Amino acid sequence: MENINVLITSPMNSYLEKQLDKRFNLLRLWTFPQKDEFFKEYSGSIRAVAGNLHVPNDREFIDSLPALEIVASYGVGVNHVDLEYCKERGIKVTNTPDVLTNDVADLAIGLILTTLRRICESDRFVKGGLWKAGDFKLTTKFSGKKVGIIGLGRIGTAIAKRAEAFNCPISYYSRSKKPESNYKYFPSVVELASDCDILVVACPLTEETRHIINREVIDALGPTGYLINIGRGPHIDEPELVSALVEGRIAGAGLDVFENEPHVPEELFKLDNVVLLPHVGSGTVETRNEMADLVVGNLEAYFNKKPLLTPVV
Ligand code: NAP
Repeated sequence: MENINVLITSPMNSYLEKQLDKRFNLLRLWTFPQKDEFFKEYSGSIRAVAGNLHVPNDREFIDSLPALEIVASYGVGVNHVDLEYCKERGIKVTNTPDVLTNDVADLAIGLILTTLRRICESDRFVKGGLWKAGDFKLTTKFSGKKVGIIGLGRIGTAIAKRAEAFNCPISYYSRSKKPESNYKYFPSVVELASDCDILVVACPLTEETRHIINREVIDALGPTGYLINIGRGPHIDEPELVSALVEGRIAGAGLDVFENEPHVPEELFKLDNVVLLPHVGSGTVETRNEMADLVVGNLEAYFNKKPLLTPVV
């Protein structure tokens, strides 16, 4: 397999790069300053793209690689890949589900706790020497709060299980009611938002779920409600969320993802009822290595003509 050209478009986890280097002829797009010359030389022989595409127009990018057979994505969400077009072109797409579920669910609970209990603000309070002048203000309890989850899939279910341990009643919204679940189902996001204290977004990003959190949903959540997003940034109409937070129309938000990463609306920096994370849901060494093994495993399976481990297309 050392003769198979595999492309990565931006620097990846060093373990992943090392594993790919060992098995394939790995081409690192960013190391070629002359892109035209790179494509002239290699476009006809690149058979796989590993990792995330990170290109402005994936259709154009895919067209520039006529020999492309497989995109082995490094993540579970495949919103950055034009799946329809890959299907049309007969290009396989794989992702890395399951191995990251626990980390993302752990982080969701962490975001809930840091937001409600103001853990980051408390930390700044101690480090800033303010404690000597008096105690920290009282915060809001997590245990027993009603948690509503958008997208009761692998990650949504793992969040629900963890929240159950905090005695939280769980409800959810997804396109279909899950017969295997005893949690309360709501057929719309607005109904879910009106009935819960903490609304967690854990669905995939699709055209249908873009701005699934809009003004109506935010207002349904209301001034005592908290919004947690560990899905994708474009699930939320960000300007609407910013104005709701500034105007106190919701109580707070914990966000791991943003509409235009790595750019985050600066109005949020001034708010103590908001916790902002740099898209680190699956960001542990252990999980990122497992994700890397899955990327490599899918490529090996494909080029050995074996069934893909985790196919999307
Ligand atoms: P999953 O197992 O496929 O679950 C997705 C759930 O969303 C399903 O319950 C599905 O149920 C529901 N869903 C799909 N379309 C929907 C819609 N239009 N409206 C409402 N619900 C919808 O996926 P997962 O492994 O849990 O991952 C979920 C997402 O988390 C990923 O796609 C990714 O974007 C995000 N994620 C983020 C991070 C991070 O670092 N923050 C890390 C990993 C994953 P129905 O089919 O019944 O609607």
